[in-house]
Order: sequence, then C-alpha cells, then structure tokens
Amino acid sequence: MACTNMPPPPAGCEEFVSCLENLFSLSLNDSRGMIKDFHEEMRKGLSGQASSLKMLPSFVDRPTGKERGNFLALDLGGTNFRVLAVQLDGKGCAAVQAVRKFAVSGEAMQGTGEQLFDFIADGIDAFLTENRMKRSSSFPLAFTFSFPVAQTGIASGRLLEWTKGFTATGVKGRDVVGLLNDALKRKGISCIAVSALVNDTIGTMVARSYGDPTCDMGVILGTGTNACYREKRLKIEKLKDRRFRKYIMINMEWGNFHKVRLTGYDEQVDGASVNPGAMHFEKLVSGMYLGELTRLVLMDAIERRLLFLHEPKAAGAFGQKGLFRTEDMSLIAEDETTDLLRVEGFLQHRGITVATPHDKTFLKHLCEITAGRSARLGATAISSVISWMDPELKDRHTVAVDGTLFEKYPHFKTGIIAVLQELHGAKAEKILLVHSKDGSGLGAAIVAAVAAAESGLNG
Ligand code: ADP
Ligand code: MG
Repeated sequence: MACTNMPPPPAGCEEFVSCLENLFSLSLNDSRGMIKDFHEEMRKGLSGQASSLKMLPSFVDRPTGKERGNFLALDLGGTNFRVLAVQLDGKGCAAVQAVRKFAVSGEAMQGTGEQLFDFIADGIDAFLTENRMKRSSSFPLAFTFSFPVAQTGIASGRLLEWTKGFTATGVKGRDVVGLLNDALKRKGISCIAVSALVNDTIGTMVARSYGDPTCDMGVILGTGTNACYREKRLKIEKLKDRRFRKYIMINMEWGNFHKVRLTGYDEQVDGASVNPGAMHFEKLVSGMYLGELTRLVLMDAIERRLLFLHEPKAAGAFGQKGLFRTEDMSLIAEDETTDLLRVEGFLQHRGITVATPHDKTFLKHLCEITAGRSARLGATAISSVISWMDPELKDRHTVAVDGTLFEKYPHFKTGIIAVLQELHGAKAEKILLVHSKDGSGLGAAIVAAVAAAESGLNG
C-alpha cells in the first residue's frame, strides 16, 4: 500500500547513489579493456615473465571418464574443510558416498602450521571413525588445497603464498603433502596414502569433465576466487619438460590479477587485510571480502546521514570489521516482498528497530551495486579465458563453477550470463555455466584415480 505521509528520502541520496554507481561501474568498454589486460598477463605468466597471474601448470590433463575405484578426498577451502568418500564407476559417474564438513577455526588458520595440519588430521580421524573405515586397509587420498602452490609432482607442491586470511606459520615454501603426512603420523593414522595434490579449480573442472568432454574451464567463487583451464602444452613456454601430455590444466591464480580500478572502499578493505597490496581481484569479487566492502559503503552512507537517520544504534551495529557478511547480503537480496519484511527481520535481529521503507530499499540497492560489480568482474574474467582458448568462439565451452557465492547469491549467475551476452552476443550460448557442487573434492578423487592408475596403486 502506498503511504502518503512517508518521509522523503534524505537529501543527497540520489547523488550518493549515482556517485557509487559510477565508482563501481564496469562498462562494456571497461570489460573489453580488462580482457586485453588479462590476455597480456596470461601471456607473460605462461612465458615465465613477471605477471600478476602465476599460471601454474598442474601435472594433469582432463580425465577420460574411465577412471574407477574408491577414494578419499580432503578439500581445504578457506572457510571450511571437507572430507569425502568418493566412488568412481568408470563410466563418467562420480558419487559422493559420505561427506563431513568442518569449519576451519581462527586458531587453525592463524596459528602454527603444525596446529593447522593437526586440525586437519583430527578431521580425517573423526571421518574414519564415523564411517567405520577399517584402519588395517589402505586408502588413497586426494588433497585439494586451495592456495597457490608450485606443483613439483602429482602428489607434491610448495605453498607459494597464503591467501584468504590464512597466516599459519612455517608452511610457506614447504611441501604441503609432507606436512599433512607428518600430521597423520603424529596422530597414528597409517592407513592413508596421499596420492594427489590438487588445486580446487582443477578439482572443480575435473569433476565435470569426467562425464562431459566440453568442460575446459573451472572457476571458484566462494571465500576466494580463482580459475583453471585447459592449455596446449606448446603454449606454456616456461614448461621445458617434454614428458607432459599435449594439454595440461593451468591453475591461473586469477585472484591476484591486479589491473583493476580500486575505489577508496577497496583500498580500505585491502589496507585492513592480512596481505595488503596482494590479491586485488579477489578482494573485489569474492565472498570473504564482499560483505566487508559493502559494510564500508553502508557506514559511509550512515555517516553522511543518508541511511538509518532515525536509528542511533545503526552506527554501532555496522561499525566494526566483520559485522556485515556476504551471507547477510544474500539474505537481503533474496527478499522480494513488497515491504521487504525479511530485510526488516534481519535489521531487527541487529537491534535496528527504526528502519523506514527508504532505509530498507536503500540498503538493498547498495548491496546490488557492490554485488553487481563482483558478478561483472567475474564474467569478464571468464570471457577472457574462453576468448583466449577460442577467440572466435567456435566450440562449446562448459565452465564448471563451485563456491557458495555462486551457488547462493541471488541472481549472481544470471548477472554473469548477462555480461557474457553483452560481450559475445548470440555466441554467448556456447558458454555454459554449470554449478559443480562439491566439485573441488570430487574432482580431486578423480585426479587420485588417474595417479593411482599411473603408479599401479589400487583405489
Ligand atoms: P570455501 O571457499 O572455503 O571452499 P565455500 O565455497 O563454501 O567455501 O565459500 C564460503 C564463502 O561463501 C564464505 O566465506 C562466504 O563469504 C560466502 N557465503 C557463505 N554463505 C553465503 C550465502 N548465503 N550467499 C553468498 N555467499 C555466501
Ligand atoms: Mg571450496
């Protein structure tokens, strides 16, 4: 019902919104410029020159779909780690038989490396017990480790850099499989043999391509963001080893792409992070930062007396780092009721009892602006990679996407598709985005199967 005596929005709102829309805009031209920059950074990264894209070769190509057996997979993301038991039928079907999710504690993330790997070993121990797995047998385990790693073999690699708020000491520069094995030994777990180390992007792509040969790209939009794709070996100039196959999957580490325009809010997010100056693209796009970035915009609006004018508690409710999260934005974006009742409920829960209709719609609109940029940037990055592989867009490309931001943020996927259509017109139909749930863990198990087949281990 229209309310005739509704207070008008505070003066200055329109200017503020139009200024923000400008700041956070990514026009079609901007996207085209970004694609050029992306290609340049990709080229440098592949040839071994300094680049914001590390372009890390994995040791594997796509699976054939014939891999089979039972495998354990361990998926260390950023917020959670999951243990999975996976069965591969050899006919392109991979099934998760059991899964358990653990939240990674702050202590584990930011304490010592030993604490982190002990925490993981405890999770594995609990999973073995819960699923009554015989400790006298031997289980091949694939380790999905979602951080930049210089892979030295199919089951070994050194951590190059922590990202996503992790700072655990004594891990950078070390082989993470060795550290996991040490922790398993400390716990007395001898039934596990780590047979593959896989990045989550690779896992996500492999999980889909096991049954779908058109899948040639994997993307993560969760705590962090990253992607991998299938590259011709001859295009990877820095790879001198001729033993490799014709194609190899490349973990791009695109979260570090740095040719992006930062707003003052982005600079604040960066300055308050544990890795200032690094991972710019990730800080503009991913779930770990999007809520915080939006919180800074909200605080700015509150301080300018454009939002929650009649609610003195608002500044306190949003006044500290971490008080507004990406999941809160999702909840707000989901509210399609005329009176924004769910937004109201959310605010009440935060102690904000006096919210005008303007406050609610304004809050929702501000979230749309920051989340909209995230989706546009994600889409532009996807387009960069597809157009690198196939400049004329002649073939079909299935892009496997994993991560809670993509899965749960309302309209995120449609936002990405809209930008792909702007960039590629009708040919955008050839790019198919599919959600590959738990793909990062499932795919790792498939890589473990490839490794097991090669080394004669039985899964
Ligand atoms: P990981 O990246 O650790 O593997 P996920 O892919 O599950 O884990 O992503 C978790 C991240 O997703 C959280 O850090 C949070 O930023 C974001 N997130 C969680 N819930 C939601 C939601 N409902 N909507 C959008 N983003 C969410
Ligand atoms: Mg993940």
